[in-house]
Amino acid sequence: MEIKYLLKQYYGYDSFRPNQEEIINEVIKGNDCMALMPTGGGKSICYQIPALNLPGTAVVLSPLISLMKDQVETLKANGIEAEALNSNNDINSDTVIRRKCLSGDLKLIYMSPEKLISEIPYLLKSIKISLFAIDEAHCISQWGHDFRPEYSQLGILHQEFPNVPVLALTATADKITREDIVKQLNLKDPKIFISSFDRPNLSLTVKREYKKPEKLKYIFNFIDNHKGESGIIYCLSRKNTEMISKVLREHGYNSAIYHAGLSAEERNKTQEAYKNDLVQIICATVAFGMGIDKSNVRWIIHYNMPKSIENFYQEIGRAGRDGAPADTVLFYSLADIIQLQQFAKDSGQQQVNMDKLRRMREYAESNVCRRRILLNYFGEQTDKDCGNCDVCDNPPIKFDGTIIVQKALSAVARTNEEIRVSTTIEILRGINSTTVIRKGYSQLKTYGVGRDITSNDWQDYILQMLQMGFIEIDYSESNHIKITSSGWDILKGKKRTQLAVIDHNIKVQAPKKKHMHLEIPSIIIPGMAPTDGHEDMQLFEALRALRKRLADEQGFPPYIILSDKVLHSLAINKPKTIEDFGMISGIGDFKKAKYGELFTKIIRNY
Ligand code: ADP
Ligand code: ZN
Repeated sequence: MEIKYLLKQYYGYDSFRPNQEEIINEVIKGNDCMALMPTGGGKSICYQIPALNLPGTAVVLSPLISLMKDQVETLKANGIEAEALNSNNDINSDTVIRRKCLSGDLKLIYMSPEKLISEIPYLLKSIKISLFAIDEAHCISQWGHDFRPEYSQLGILHQEFPNVPVLALTATADKITREDIVKQLNLKDPKIFISSFDRPNLSLTVKREYKKPEKLKYIFNFIDNHKGESGIIYCLSRKNTEMISKVLREHGYNSAIYHAGLSAEERNKTQEAYKNDLVQIICATVAFGMGIDKSNVRWIIHYNMPKSIENFYQEIGRAGRDGAPADTVLFYSLADIIQLQQFAKDSGQQQVNMDKLRRMREYAESNVCRRRILLNYFGEQTDKDCGNCDVCDNPPIKFDGTIIVQKALSAVARTNEEIRVSTTIEILRGINSTTVIRKGYSQLKTYGVGRDITSNDWQDYILQMLQMGFIEIDYSESNHIKITSSGWDILKGKKRTQLAVIDHNIKVQAPKKKHMHLEIPSIIIPGMAPTDGHEDMQLFEALRALRKRLADEQGFPPYIILSDKVLHSLAINKPKTIEDFGMISGIGDFKKAKYGELFTKIIRNY
């Protein structure tokens, strides 16, 4: 069947995203290939449509049972026959799945790498395999960040099944990893498709130098602007996840924690509750997220700065997979930087990790469109500002800060560069701390010259000085501040410099959510009764409640019944007949028949 028709029939989409069609055609022709797409880019369709088109069963390799479960549920919800073979199945269901597979009833079967290797002489030799799809293919490479030894045996697939095409898919692979994937999988002259890593529906905001109470106030405010919407707060430490979750719960928010210190059972329970919209907020260390495809995560907050752009991008990438708008906020402070540099130094790969951290800082400290920095990092150039980041929305306001910078540098210089940030501020503010007394710093000419500026603001200005390269922090010398050559230029009056104005008013006020209905077809759908194009939020809530009820009845997560994006589109286009319902992007024939009457009834009665 024509692949465009399959896209419409099963998924309810009218057009392919960039590269999808080319990848699908390559696989259908029987050729190996590799697809690099960001999270949420639409990798699944690249092997699912060939699976629907070709005779036989597609074998899909996936590293995590929870991911397989998600994929299988999504496929079944679209009326496609799929199952997963893994160690979680009991003997009965295992037998049923094998039988279905042998009789050719399945279009797709998901397996872990161990399972796949052990089934080569048995199940796999007894069925017609249409293709192998290797999901999260970077796991095969030692160079990638998720190396899994079980993946390394997959090279034998091509020896055992020389005529079955192999499609490798991943969201993260630099050049070395890419080459390694091709080599390890023995791919034959594979075409490599690299999609843009841009995720325009994710808004990007950075907040610098917030203290704990300000961060928490901001977070409350932010969550209030995202009523009932799922989100994740990432922290560097378990302690912080527990602290934040506790504070949130005390204020009546529905939050849970997730970190490596919990038992597997507890973590699993939390993950399921989150998928099913029973918990709104997860306070997590980085351990959380890999195992879920929840498409309606609407926001991500980084309570601390992550150690690299890869980590950051992967984590914010967990929001907005359905393509509807999602918001991300990163808090970063001097304290984070000092801690992360310490980690990098102790990591055994100091140079590489310091470098990654420096790139992460460049993102956080940027005065230009943040998305340009991200895309640049992934090797993509753009000549446009994105219009969906805080720098684009509110370019920083600058003033001549030369004297302020000179005061701080002078304090450092007069101590022979042997003080930390905290002592520098004490000297500037004229505070008689123990260090100041012990070292006799109150005798310095700079003592007390910065009383007019609060400690918090000094902290902010010193961070800006670090960003601009006027100072460095010497980790081998108790984090003492060192003045760089461009810092000396300022101090000696050879150059002037600007500083960004600190806006105290906006500190705890999270921006109102933008209603940017990206990609959501509104107003005119050909053939459908026209509407005013206005989204009715009350109708949206009514539709969301129906989705939740159906999800509970059927034991699926709500986002598998219909995505947030589809719900928004329904609340905008307000289809009143089943035919019109079926025209909404993301509703295939199966969902149209199954849910059309229920949803349009709500719209008709509204
Ligand atoms: P990935 O595996 O790359 O993270 P998915 O395959 O889960 O991404 O796809 C992300 C979302 O995009 C899904 O909701 C999917 O249905 C949707 N999607 C994929 N292809 C298209 C398309 N051609 N048009 C509209 N939506 C699409
Ligand atoms: Zn921008």
